[in-house]
Amino acid sequence: MSNGTHVDDRHPRAESIRTRERLTHHVGTRVLALAGLIAHGRGEAFDYMLGEATTEPAKRAITAAAAAMLLAEHPVISVNGNAAALCAEDMVRLSRATGAKLEVNLFHRQPGREEAIEAVLREAGAEEVLGVGDAATARINEIHSDRRTVDPRGIYVADVVLVPLEDGDRAEALVRMGKTVIAVDLNPLSRTAQYASITIVDNLVRAAPLLVSEAERLKGFGADELHGILSSYSNSEALGESMRIMEERLHALSRKGVYLRIDGEE
Ligand code: ATP
Ligand code: MG
Repeated sequence: MSNGTHVDDRHPRAESIRTRERLTHHVGTRVLALAGLIAHGRGEAFDYMLGEATTEPAKRAITAAAAAMLLAEHPVISVNGNAAALCAEDMVRLSRATGAKLEVNLFHRQPGREEAIEAVLREAGAEEVLGVGDAATARINEIHSDRRTVDPRGIYVADVVLVPLEDGDRAEALVRMGKTVIAVDLNPLSRTAQYASITIVDNLVRAAPLLVSEAERLKGFGADELHGILSSYSNSEALGESMRIMEERLHALSRKGVYLRIDGEE
């Protein structure tokens, strides 16, 4: 995975720099479109406001998401370039824990990209990858980008779809088709975050392993218990709380007039 640069662990932003290196490396492998880098930058800005940690509402959303995936008849994990570059192993583990199928679905279907993403997923242990090349024969007409092309065995028939880093256009269309849409998006104001049935406002890098462990923990639960978890979850409440956390943090920091070195932060 390395692109030759070494980041010193003592660097205060070592983790963020390593993540960026993974993404830039994957521009070279064609997994990531250049626009994926811009999307990541937008996400990082919101992560500053969140405090770069998984919040309580995000944890509740993760639990609800795991329950929804386990209850689903046809759960599907939609994988784009950012998700493949950031957490291919976790997506494969999540598919094993929940029985969800993995499907490549891209906003920018450039030649060779689907295959490059499939290769990353297979290297991470995936046995089946939907949506690649001729397999994506179904169309969702409400969607106005390359994302409309889907696999008839996957997103097309899915009842629950996990769409990490989604575009709002498709999230809305999938919800309108009656599907439960789970999104991971650091920006609670994005159309994706607003339209999704379950919105995990967290960095995908932190949320993905938590989603796997939560799915593994809930696997032993009965359907009634899982339904109970889902019915007690309110996405609008969780979204509102995420926004309040950002608002309160900004408010507290702005009162002091400085950001650097407050509360031991960088
Ligand atoms: P909308 O959802 O309003 O239509 P968009 O989907 O067009 O917006 P993009 O920039 O394409 O906007 O989507 C990227 C989204 O993914 C951004 O909202 C950004 O906050 C989020 N994002 C980027 N990187 C991450 C990450 N590592 N973890 C979680 N969310 C991320
Ligand atoms: Mg979006």
